[in-house]
Amino acid sequence: MKRSRIALVAAAAASALLFAGCAGDGGGGGAEPTVEETPEFEEGTTMAALAEAGEITIGTKFDQPLFGLVGPSGDPEGFDVEIGKIIAGKLGIAEDKIEWTETVSANREPFIENGQVDLVVATYTINDERKQVVSFAGPYYMAGQSILVLADNEDIASEDDLVGQPVCSVTGSTPAANLKELGAEVLETDTYSNCLEPLRNGQVVAVSTDNVILAGLAAQNEGEFKVVGEPFTEEPYGIGVKLDDTDFRMWINDVLEESYEDGTYEEAWNTTAGTILPFVEPPAVDRY
Ligand code: GLU
Repeated sequence: MKRSRIALVAAAAASALLFAGCAGDGGGGGAEPTVEETPEFEEGTTMAALAEAGEITIGTKFDQPLFGLVGPSGDPEGFDVEIGKIIAGKLGIAEDKIEWTETVSANREPFIENGQVDLVVATYTINDERKQVVSFAGPYYMAGQSILVLADNEDIASEDDLVGQPVCSVTGSTPAANLKELGAEVLETDTYSNCLEPLRNGQVVAVSTDNVILAGLAAQNEGEFKVVGEPFTEEPYGIGVKLDDTDFRMWINDVLEESYEDGTYEEAWNTTAGTILPFVEPPAVDRY
């Protein structure tokens, strides 16, 4: 019994490594975004300050395959990471001058508020509650909440089957709030990767969060899990900045729109999440 458990853990670790390795070797780092040589910004703006400093601190996820996952290089890789590099490049800041800070779901707002990060790109849903404390550029991607179960599970097909059931999600996330509203019994942890063991050992019947996060976790652990049902919420991903830093927010919106036009957004997708998920046209940015 003990031996087979160890074997299983070892197999899971090996496949995680293999996946991380693939992401690195398969160009998971993406194409080099353009680094502006002498960008000019109005004095007093966040853009001017960052360009002058020549470095930037970006909050992202460290354990989410396809969007932000620390690989063998020690730096995170994924679509969100590439979006961060595109923004930094337009400030004249090259990749090696970006400091990546892990932001989990619950600390994104405080990290922005207290200046621990200059911005957050981390599968971060724009919503009115969060807009009370931070501001958002974007959206640059539209995800939706979905469900991950063990590969042999035949009982759960939609969110209705989660009512009254133990389901794992993450503290401070929109999916955790949605699950409570739905009437599921929510087991909360700090990261989605920490939901996988409770799912394996039967402590919960499902993990629920954004479809694209679950797709990454399923691909990382091939054959173990499956994503079921249709997405049942809308999760517009935004880039979090300090509350009311309107110049910075609007400038990032310009950068996003440019990246849609010049192909760097599509390239960023294709080399990361696009290795598994189809490309979809980005939603229109919301210049609220
Ligand atoms: N997009 C959702 C959120 O921002 C779930 C993903 C996450 O927790 O990062 O809460």
